[in-house]
Amino acid sequence: MVIRIRENILKIRERIENAALHTGRRGEDVRLVAVTKTRSVEEMLEVCRCRVDALGENRVQEALSKISSWPADNGVPWHLIGHLQSNKARKAIEAFRCIQSVDSSSLARNLQNICSPIGRTLEVMAEVNIGDDANKFGVLAKDLPALVETILSECPSLSLSGFMTILPMGLDESAARTLFAGLRDLRNAMEIRSGRSFRELSMGMSGDFEFAVMEGSTMVRIGSAIFGERNY
Ligand SMILES: *Cc1c(COP(=O)(O)O)cnc(C)c1O
Repeated sequence: MVIRIRENILKIRERIENAALHTGRRGEDVRLVAVTKTRSVEEMLEVCRCRVDALGENRVQEALSKISSWPADNGVPWHLIGHLQSNKARKAIEAFRCIQSVDSSSLARNLQNICSPIGRTLEVMAEVNIGDDANKFGVLAKDLPALVETILSECPSLSLSGFMTILPMGLDESAARTLFAGLRDLRNAMEIRSGRSFRELSMGMSGDFEFAVMEGSTMVRIGSAIFGERNY
């Protein structure tokens, strides 16, 4: 089990490297987030020993219960990648260094109201429903400018580093790459519009991360290709 995790990560790093070369980038330009929902603290500590850049958790409650048996801060940051309800926002900022799933102006304002009085600066990403998929969270592309505007103008405690997306299931390479490129283009448009730079594109999962890297992903979120299939 221990060996398999390490081998899987090495293989993934190699595949990232090869995909990055397509666009003249290097493998080191792409961060690897190990997605640890349903995984044990023991498995999480093992991935931390294998040079991953962050741990991605979907649910605040699950993360908090793991943190209660987490030995010590080992320097690997925790990112929230699942939908956040406003009533869990206060707990979320205790557990997570970055919230990748900010998908509404009201959630952004809520996080601002919690962070500001305690002097906390919180890294956030805006989650975009780039495939216009009724089953997914995230703002629609047409609503992204307003969300970015809210964060930049009303939420000084939030540091917007970029954009996250999850594609609809079952797309072929060409459809997947078109959507990933769409998020990259949106990022570029937001930079021009705001005069800021947004370095992160969090896109790509076990089934599609090479396509995402080819289209400019800076952060892939990988679960099952590291740990095997999940049993809920
Ligand atoms: C579960 C999950 C992943 C990882 O999915 P795999 O297909 O197991 O790699 C990535 N991102 C989000 C938001 C997830 O919920």
